[in-house]
Amino acid sequence: MLQSALEVNQRRVQFSGLGVSQDGKASAVITSTVSFFKPMRTIGDKLRNGKDLVHPCDRQGAIYCVPCGDCDQKYFGETKMSFKKRKKEHISYIKHFYPEKSALAAHALELEHRMNWSKTQIVAFENDFRRRRFTESFFINSTPNVINEKSSDLFPKICRATFGYN
Ligand SMILES: [Zn+2]
Repeated sequence: MLQSALEVNQRRVQFSGLGVSQDGKASAVITSTVSFFKPMRTIGDKLRNGKDLVHPCDRQGAIYCVPCGDCDQKYFGETKMSFKKRKKEHISYIKHFYPEKSALAAHALELEHRMNWSKTQIVAFENDFRRRRFTESFFINSTPNVINEKSSDLFPKICRATFGYN
């Protein structure tokens, strides 16, 4: 039953991500992927509406993807705070050698790999904790080559089955 509900939502909802360059400026919408959630507004939409512009890196409740610069793996994370603040934490874990603090830090420290922060994508925003974790789990479990550990509960199984990954 859950699977059919997912399929209905996947057909209905288009999802957009924002690119974030190293100098902190947002680029245009760079990806279009399937998601279950309402599409977020793009930078362009905000400018057209004439509202004040909050940079995606400064907005709270982010789900983000950071690729490794030294291999083809990528890390998905979620945070109640802004990505900018969470990024500082990840970097601090690496600098002070705390691999147990995040899978990103563990990857960077154990393999001596550098993350490609300039290719970070903020893939979604969600202020509700459970929905944010759900969205993060969706991306982790439906994307190949992730640094994160894939979980084995029902939801990830449905994700993997739906998108053809094992
Ligand atoms: Zn790597």
